[in-house]
Amino acid sequence: MSEVIETSCSTCGTPSGSLDPSTKRIKLAMGIFSGVMLATGIILELLNVGIVPVYIVFLASALSAGRYVIPMGIKGIAKRRLDQHFLMAAASIGAMIIGAPAEGAAVMFLFYISILLEDRAEDRVREEIQSLIELEPPSVLAKIDGAEVCIAPTDVKTGDILIIRPGTRIGLDGTIVTGATTVDQAPITGESLPVPKSAGDQVFAGTINHEGYIEVEVTSESDETVLSKIIQLVEESRNNRAPTERAITRFSRIYTPIVLIVSILVGIVSLLLNMTVAQAAYRALTLLVVSCPCAFAVSIPVTMVSAIAGSARTGVLVKGAVHLEMASKTEIVAFDKTGTLTEGVLSVRDVCLHNNHTRGEILSVAASLETMSEHPIGRALVAATNQENLDIPLTTEFTAVPGRGVTGLINEDNFLVGNRRLLSEHDVPLQSTVDHNCGVGTMVYVAHKDEHFGTIILSDTLREKTKQAISHLKQMGIRTVMLTGDSENVAIEIAEEIGIDEYRAELLPHEKLEIVKDLKKSGVTLFVGDGINDTPALAEADVGIAMGAAASDAALESSDIALMKQDLTKVPELVMKARKTMKVVRQNVAASLIVKAGTGILAALGFLTLWMAIGIGDMGLTFAVIANALRLTRKK
Ligand code: ADP
Ligand code: MG
Repeated sequence: MSEVIETSCSTCGTPSGSLDPSTKRIKLAMGIFSGVMLATGIILELLNVGIVPVYIVFLASALSAGRYVIPMGIKGIAKRRLDQHFLMAAASIGAMIIGAPAEGAAVMFLFYISILLEDRAEDRVREEIQSLIELEPPSVLAKIDGAEVCIAPTDVKTGDILIIRPGTRIGLDGTIVTGATTVDQAPITGESLPVPKSAGDQVFAGTINHEGYIEVEVTSESDETVLSKIIQLVEESRNNRAPTERAITRFSRIYTPIVLIVSILVGIVSLLLNMTVAQAAYRALTLLVVSCPCAFAVSIPVTMVSAIAGSARTGVLVKGAVHLEMASKTEIVAFDKTGTLTEGVLSVRDVCLHNNHTRGEILSVAASLETMSEHPIGRALVAATNQENLDIPLTTEFTAVPGRGVTGLINEDNFLVGNRRLLSEHDVPLQSTVDHNCGVGTMVYVAHKDEHFGTIILSDTLREKTKQAISHLKQMGIRTVMLTGDSENVAIEIAEEIGIDEYRAELLPHEKLEIVKDLKKSGVTLFVGDGINDTPALAEADVGIAMGAAASDAALESSDIALMKQDLTKVPELVMKARKTMKVVRQNVAASLIVKAGTGILAALGFLTLWMAIGIGDMGLTFAVIANALRLTRKK
């Protein structure tokens, strides 16, 4: 990314909020002090200066770290929950009492270090979100009564005009009214190349204006922009926890009291085996330390949220850890055809005439009915007719028949424009198009009452990266399926060209949903659609991915995962990322369980000192799992 002038105007605006650095510094200083006291205590002990000064120094070490640990343990008890803070505080105090002050201080100090490590990991996640928040410039230049005014984005209303100079960040979503430029949309859509934009085009908050001067009419206020929705969703995703994570939390809630009981039992058994009270207590305390569940309690949220925040920056918005975990299990990917695999921008390839009707007549009728349609086919027919400067008569009683076409009245006469199904449902016999030498493509039949008098052949272009995305998914061992309302002929042609495993054609909208339901029976199914007419299938799929969410609110809302840009290669990339994330989670859980079980057994048998327990079983492990999780945030 080239240099960006971060504020649109230099006279106003303050950098947006940062974390409280002074508390962080005090916490760190306490940790260092605790460590220094611990070291001093050990030296004094070696110098044999006597028990009282040694105890005082170790106590100072334990209390400076315990200042944070002990209150948290007490808070836990107040909420009737025994947590790791309680376990560690108990272990430390216990060690002090049985005459092992060095160990008591070490437990507290090292546990405190692991808390600092956790904080650091959380900070990393917060930084990821913060870097999204900082994409909105603190101030923008607005044109008010002809004058340039520098104001905060929150004070801008829809309809206001923003002035965007070259090299500055765009402050709010809007439509260009004057000027032309190229815009770096990477922060929002993840696309690497700057996109040319001119009057009438949409621009997004957080993107960067390159070389042109533009004026933008604001379409969404500060808390309604695509950027602010992204931030909101990433923040919400932290609450939307994955099943694995929830299971672990539940597990650690019953785990801690059990550990406490087992430790007490080990102490009692040791006493029965004729050990001294101090020896038995030491053994029980070691077990307590080993069993602290902090390592795996912290590693999963850190892993998940850092993966989600990382994806958001590449234009893939995952609305919760649940969806990421599900995506990692993907076995089948089903695609909508029009608008997803293809551009969805159709053009008229040919018009086939029947019974001596003219091309102009057919196009006029089709465009007349389609004027009111939102369907890509409708838009294509209207555009083609306008281009040929044909008259478009007025249609009344327009009806859209989903999955079939449209009907309406022109001068009180019945007309139909749609597919084979529409005509047969109205008992209109189809004219053959074979001897007319019409090409292949999406056939739109035009009929007047019961006479089929023209056929329009439309073609769509594949998206640039469709083939690449399909072959990548197949390499990953994923079954690919195309779902379309279009005819069998068109479906075959496209399926062969892109190398997709299967296709289902001539589907009615509700049948797409049925098929997704069916596919789910044979494996975890991900559905990719353009979000507008595919909402039911998006909702039904295990994971619903909507494309082009930057441009459509509906897509952003109805999906589990939204691709800000219409780039299909993001689908295999996402599944890879999800798999990698879950692999890290599994590694961390497995490593935690193995180390805990191993050191737990050694502790119960008396082969472990408190030093080893905390160094390996607690802090060492926490450090290892966090380091493993943070690998995912590393940029490629
Ligand atoms: P898809 O998104 O897979 O194309 P649709 O359900 O939107 O599925 O459309 C299915 C089929 O119904 C289209 O291929 C077309 O033949 C017909 N159709 C739907 N709407 C229209 C329309 N407005 N004009 C003409 N044909 C239409
Ligand atoms: Mg579609």
